[in-house]
Amino acid sequence: MNEGGTWRVSATMTRVESDEGRVEGLEHSVTSTTHPLPQGDTTEHYDAVVIGAGVSGMYALHHLRGMGLSVRVYDGAPRVGGTWWHNRYPGARVDGPSAPLYGYTFSDELVKEWDWTESQSSQPDVLSYLEHFADRFDLRRDIQLETRVQDARYDEATQRWTVETSTGLRVSAEFLICAVGALSAPNRPEIPGIDDFEGECHHTGSWPQEPVSFSGKRVGVIGTGSSGIQAIPEIAKEAAHVTVFQRTPQYTVPARNRPLAPEELTAVRENWEDVRAGMMAAPPPDAVLPMMPGNGRSAFDETPEQRHALYEKLWAQGTLGFVYGNYPELLVNEEINREVCDFLRGKIREIVRDPETAEKLMPDHFYGTKRPILDDGYYETYNRDNVTLVDLRKDPIEGMTREGVRTATGEHAIDMLVLATGFDAITGSMLRLDPKGRGGVSLREKWKSHFHNYLGLMVSDFPNLFMIHGPGTPGVLYLMPLGAELETEWIANCMLHMREQGLGAVEPTHAAELAWDREVNALADRTLFPRTDSWYTGANIPGKPRHFSVHLGGPAYFHRIAEVADEGYEGLVFTPNAGGGAETGSGRTRRA
Ligand code: NAP
Repeated sequence: MNEGGTWRVSATMTRVESDEGRVEGLEHSVTSTTHPLPQGDTTEHYDAVVIGAGVSGMYALHHLRGMGLSVRVYDGAPRVGGTWWHNRYPGARVDGPSAPLYGYTFSDELVKEWDWTESQSSQPDVLSYLEHFADRFDLRRDIQLETRVQDARYDEATQRWTVETSTGLRVSAEFLICAVGALSAPNRPEIPGIDDFEGECHHTGSWPQEPVSFSGKRVGVIGTGSSGIQAIPEIAKEAAHVTVFQRTPQYTVPARNRPLAPEELTAVRENWEDVRAGMMAAPPPDAVLPMMPGNGRSAFDETPEQRHALYEKLWAQGTLGFVYGNYPELLVNEEINREVCDFLRGKIREIVRDPETAEKLMPDHFYGTKRPILDDGYYETYNRDNVTLVDLRKDPIEGMTREGVRTATGEHAIDMLVLATGFDAITGSMLRLDPKGRGGVSLREKWKSHFHNYLGLMVSDFPNLFMIHGPGTPGVLYLMPLGAELETEWIANCMLHMREQGLGAVEPTHAAELAWDREVNALADRTLFPRTDSWYTGANIPGKPRHFSVHLGGPAYFHRIAEVADEGYEGLVFTPNAGGGAETGSGRTRRA
């Protein structure tokens, strides 16, 4: 996996990309399919159907099309961009550095020609970038928007997926690529009487396309995760009054967003190879936690005063550096984590003038075990006269009326309700799609009590279905665009392998899924993550099975999946092409 701490992509993970979008040197191996096409009224046949035209789906289109495959992308939205199309609430922006981290890395030209203007780009800027990506690589001709996939089912005889859309299309494809987003199934809480509310109601994760005015309005916000914490200060600047309904107080660190100096972009471009290699560098084998590069010092080698000085320095710098530049023990050691929590609670007391409000804002979970949050004046917002905080732990919501929110102690009249209540994360969008695999088995049935999968990419009984940013991948704890590139390339190489070997179907064994689950959990169990209720564990959705669904390896995950490919696709079962293909020596081969 790691060779002396350097990135090693498998022999099969070739990245020879030209800016015209062809993957040079690979065309020879991709020939038209020899599979029998399904009978019936299916009118269009593709090598691959991609669901979702966001960061991952568009890259999948680009890469697979570059290999010479016929690809069609469907997305229910009217524009490309996925998450960045839907999450257009006020204050939405990237929380990692934009350049180069929130961008595709595969094309030097793209890196050179796109001028990020801020250290943490706003939602409109990211959307413009993704629109540019679609135009720059001529993707739109293969993307069908306003077209939701309503049904996807696998036919073992033809080894193909049949997909039906909201627009009445019925198409077939050898491969189904689910780029449906890890945070794209909005969670709408079931509050009694919510439909009786007569004011406006918007979810941050499906924000209206038309401008929303808060001017002169009494706005209620439920939810204080990343979205709520970004939105609340912006809404408070315009609204007559904001009432924040907080269930779990959160730690947040200043974002310190700033304009990017042209020379910073130049420096990235001039050193692009090194920068990119650094983004993928394998963690050292003895890393306390592979996803945490740390600051090169152990917390236990320093005095409490030295540690406090580091926390102050990181707070002053802001950004996610507060996590990633902290001690490597931060997310694994209770004592160090508690010290950081105390430090952050101290900051809340310093910032929030009203001690009663400050007390309501005090988080009590381990810092970083819910997704770390960055803000632009969040705690300061509670010093405004037009902002009120309701602590739902002491004063729970009982229901909604026509005019507002009723809590145990009384009614809060509002004109608009903003639901910043997050997502049925990681698995929710796959479950809403609910593909039907071998013998018609539904994913919902399969995942009723546990989200079994292999490498976060595949599910047994669902041949030729691949997920990008699925459960068991590093997802939002890595770099989403780069992660999408690397997962797509792994998938593409697996497809290539199949074409070369005359194979028609691939799926993991259940034993491999169980082993993968153990591997993901073993990593998580070294940390404090599983001890907190969060969307990582599914605890934010009533009734959802508790399952820690994030691989905490950071770049180590990509080395791990490359290793699986290098070792002959261990854990996968291949079936020869139903149209008559050669047998394979790689993986295990099932008789057709
Ligand atoms: P979230 O982190 O899940 O936060 C949802 C909030 O709503 C939590 O405070 C939650 O409370 C509350 N909530 C949910 N159901 C509720 C109910 N029935 N009653 C009262 N409160 C309820 O969701 P999010 O803020 O949308 O963020 C999700 C993820 O998206 C983030 O963690 C991040 O990965 C990503 N994101 C990133 C950015 C960025 O990059 N800048 C911005 C936004 C989002 P509990 O904590 O008690 O469940």
